[in-house]
Amino acid sequence: MSSVPVAVVTGSNKGIGFAIVRALCKQFQGDVYLTARDPSRGQEAVAKLQEEGLHPLFHQLDIDDLQSIRALRDFLKEKYGGLNVLVNNAGIAFKVRDTTPFATQAEVTLKTNFFGTRNVCTELLPIMKPYGRVVNVSSMASSSALGGCSRELQQKFRSDTITEDELVELMTKFVEDTKKSVHEKEGWPNTAYGVSKIGVTVLSRIQARMLNEKRKGDHILLNACCPGWVRTDMAGPQATKSPDEGAETPVYLALLPSDADGPHGQFLSNKTIRSW
Ligand code: NAP
Repeated sequence: MSSVPVAVVTGSNKGIGFAIVRALCKQFQGDVYLTARDPSRGQEAVAKLQEEGLHPLFHQLDIDDLQSIRALRDFLKEKYGGLNVLVNNAGIAFKVRDTTPFATQAEVTLKTNFFGTRNVCTELLPIMKPYGRVVNVSSMASSSALGGCSRELQQKFRSDTITEDELVELMTKFVEDTKKSVHEKEGWPNTAYGVSKIGVTVLSRIQARMLNEKRKGDHILLNACCPGWVRTDMAGPQATKSPDEGAETPVYLALLPSDADGPHGQFLSNKTIRSW
């Protein structure tokens, strides 16, 4: 088994994830895994970074596929005895002008952004090594969507005692409510992406609390962040940040030094803690 530290970035064949891998290859003392659901897109991305003189490794990972997540988990356990850095970056967003019915958009978006990310956490958090760092890439869209929720929902999502099961129930209810066209009446905002990222931010707050309760002595730090508005296929060419600039906050959180006791359980943008 290798004693080399190891970092994994989900959805890193392009966009912000690709830039996070690039930065980690330069700054992280250990093996860095670029992962992609499509192996050929992944290998192409690895080759691009190799041309820059960097040496990422590759592993397939589709966060919508439990078998794929478990194969990565088993590989990491066997080869490294665990994981040091996890960046949950993979995500999707329908374009504003997409005419897919809202209920379908809700189901598909939540499936990857919330349920897929949660499944990765369920499988990989137990193998995080002491002093591990976990970064969940959320979005400022989670804060604005929270503002668009009913007072009752806001209270639930801001609660310091909400459980993961309760959050899953709420995310499932959102999808069901969109299918019945009652989501607005039920207090939800009109944004599937925003609600999926509420899920990611709240999940991060819950997971950080669980780490405090169950693994206090392990000094693992887990946070959610927004990368900013970044020029990628998702956000388009008008966005203000380059992918490398978008990678800065996630990389800062991924590389928090071993003597840091925070941030933990926070939502950050531009390396600054934001109120939730
Ligand atoms: P992007 O360019 O569209 O890249 C998304 C990445 O996620 C791609 O590598 C994509 O792979 C991958 N992915 C999608 N579904 C996946 C799955 N089921 N399993 C594994 N990988 C999957 O988007 P981006 O702008 O870099 O976004 C990265 C993260 O930042 C997302 O979580 C996004 O919500 C968040 N974010 C972005 C912005 C922004 O302005 N760009 C702002 C706030 C937050 P394929 O190539 O196979 O599709």
